[in-house]
Amino acid sequence: MTERLYYTDAYTTQFTATIVERLRENGQLLLVLDRTYFYPTSGGQLADRGRINGEPVIDVQIREADGAVVHFLQNKEEIWTDEIKGEIAWERRFEQMQTHTGQHILSQAFMQMAQAETVSVHMGEESCTLDLSSATLTPTQVEQAEWLANQIVWENRTVKPYFVSSAQAEQLHLRKLPPVTGKIRLIDIDKFDLTACGGTHVARTGEVGLIKVVKLERYKEGLRVEFRCGRRALLDYRLKNNVANRLAAALTTSYTGIEPAVQKLQAELKQSQRLLKKQQTDLLAGEAARLLRDTPRKGKTQLICQVYSEWDAGQVRLLAKQLTQNPEVIALLGVAGEKAQLIFARSEDGPGNMSDLLKMVLPLLGAAAGGGNATFAQGGGPPADLARLSQALSRAEKLILAQM
Ligand SMILES: [Zn+2]
Repeated sequence: MTERLYYTDAYTTQFTATIVERLRENGQLLLVLDRTYFYPTSGGQLADRGRINGEPVIDVQIREADGAVVHFLQNKEEIWTDEIKGEIAWERRFEQMQTHTGQHILSQAFMQMAQAETVSVHMGEESCTLDLSSATLTPTQVEQAEWLANQIVWENRTVKPYFVSSAQAEQLHLRKLPPVTGKIRLIDIDKFDLTACGGTHVARTGEVGLIKVVKLERYKEGLRVEFRCGRRALLDYRLKNNVANRLAAALTTSYTGIEPAVQKLQAELKQSQRLLKKQQTDLLAGEAARLLRDTPRKGKTQLICQVYSEWDAGQVRLLAKQLTQNPEVIALLGVAGEKAQLIFARSEDGPGNMSDLLKMVLPLLGAAAGGGNATFAQGGGPPADLARLSQALSRAEKLILAQM
């Protein structure tokens, strides 16, 4: 079984070791070493990256059967020497150390401030979360826990890993006791938190830098807390600060003025939309009245033909409905544009079948589709200009006149 050097020392990044096993998986070279500083995926923490003899290590995993640490190399070439030089990618490792230590501190802070137990932890490439057993935390309790966590960071307390027997572990008041026998690794944050963990941690809490809760979400029976620590917290702050500054500039206000400015915009938009709707209704009523006034009756029926290029199909449909609320009206309307539409409607007591009429005229618009019933039909699709739609309407007019 591989000796896991990172258990007692999370800071060494260069080491030598001996290859004890060479494996192949899909042509890929996999190595087992007698000892390693590479952290394998486990306990919610991401695996390390780095190099072995200069070749990139793209994954590190534990082999369940015997607990060996398996290093996945990017290069497919054989490494012929048994002695190798390993190098850990420090930036990624340190980010994990900051996050993992920060998580222990935050979990203990939630215990102390809200008696909320951490039931699971996830530290991914993008987001880091911990799930609390309680869903009833108030925003104040969350802020209090965050505040306490950062105080522990500022106090720069020592963080020490050590091993005890499972019997000894049971005597200690651990935040989390794993169901394993034999030796158990503990992480001791001086007079604040003691828990079992196999991950890599900083030596003093000050190195965590900053702990920030960024999002709360109901999850199962509890609460999912998304957080950032150290370098990741800084990057997150930078991103959000840039967004806030850009928004403030766009709204010509200060950072604290963004929220009221947006609320004002929303209220103005609502008011404008109300006004627009009122004006559209008036416009439709005016247009309907004009058409009814200017169109002479043929026999008993008023046959209205009109094409629009400024209005959309929704508005023209409303117009057709308004027109045909009057007795003995047929409205043959068109909407010119990228997606031209024909809208045929008649009063309940009017002559003709609008659906049949539409079917006869639609081929004039090319690959058009549509349908409806005796009193209302709509169809179209391909682009058509005013002239083309006028032709289609003249054809429809002739057909309907022949039936009257
Ligand atoms: Zn840990």
